[in-house]
Amino acid sequence: MICSVCHGGCCRRYYVDVTGYDILNISKTLMMDIPSFVYTLAVEDDEIELLEQESVLFKFTDDNCEKHYRFCLKKTDSLAYPGTLKCMFLQEWDAKILNYPEMNDKLIARCGIYGCRPLMCATFPTKYDLSGNFGFIPDPYTTCEKKSHPALNLCPRSITSEDFRGCAEDTIKTLALQRYEIKFFRAMAEYWNNYPKSINDFYNFIQNAYSNRVSCEET
Ligand code: SF4
Ligand code: SF4
Repeated sequence: MICSVCHGGCCRRYYVDVTGYDILNISKTLMMDIPSFVYTLAVEDDEIELLEQESVLFKFTDDNCEKHYRFCLKKTDSLAYPGTLKCMFLQEWDAKILNYPEMNDKLIARCGIYGCRPLMCATFPTKYDLSGNFGFIPDPYTTCEKKSHPALNLCPRSITSEDFRGCAEDTIKTLALQRYEIKFFRAMAEYWNNYPKSINDFYNFIQNAYSNRVSCEET
C-alpha cells in the first residue's frame, strides 16, 4: 500500500475533523480525556460557507458565543521536519536507525492509533462523487496544490484503484459509516447551536447523546 512508503503528508497538512463518534471512540479505546487530544479550532466568518460542506461547526459560551469552531485532532511539533506540525498521533522513525531496507534512508511514518483512527483518516483520500452516491479516489498527488515544504505534500505518486485491492469493500463500508456519523453530528450541531453552553458542557452532552443510540464499534 502506498501509505506505508509515505512520510504521512495528509497527517501533517490538514487539521483532521472528528465527529462525536470519533471523539468518544478514541477516548474510550485509549482511555484519554477528551481535551487531551481534541482541539477546538476557531473558524473565520468568511470560511464558514466553504467549511460547512465538510466540517461540523459548533458555538460555545466560553468566549464569544457567535464564533464557530471545528473539532479536530491536536497537532504537535514534528521531529523529522523541524519547524512543522503533525497530527499528535503520527509516529516518526528514522528508517536508517531501524534498519528498514525497503525505505533506504527515509522516514517511517505510521498512525499510532490506526485501530481507532477517525473516520476522515480511514476514508482519506476517497470521497463521494457529486451525485453523493458513489465513492471515488480524487488522487491527491495530481489534484492537490504542491507546497513549498516537502513535509506538507501528499502521496509519493498517483493513487489508483489497485491501491485499494483487498480493502475496497471495507473502504466503501467506512465511507457509508462516515456519512451516517457526519449526518448525526450535524443534527447535534443544529440542536446545540440554538442553545449553546460551555465546551465542558458539550463533552457531557455528547456522552449522553451517544450513550443510547445504535452504534458501530468497529470501522
Ligand atoms: S489519526 Fe492517524 S491517520 Fe489520522 S491524521 Fe493522525 S496519524 Fe494520521
Ligand atoms: S499523503 Fe497519501 S500516501 Fe501519504 S499517507 Fe496520506 S494518503 Fe497515504
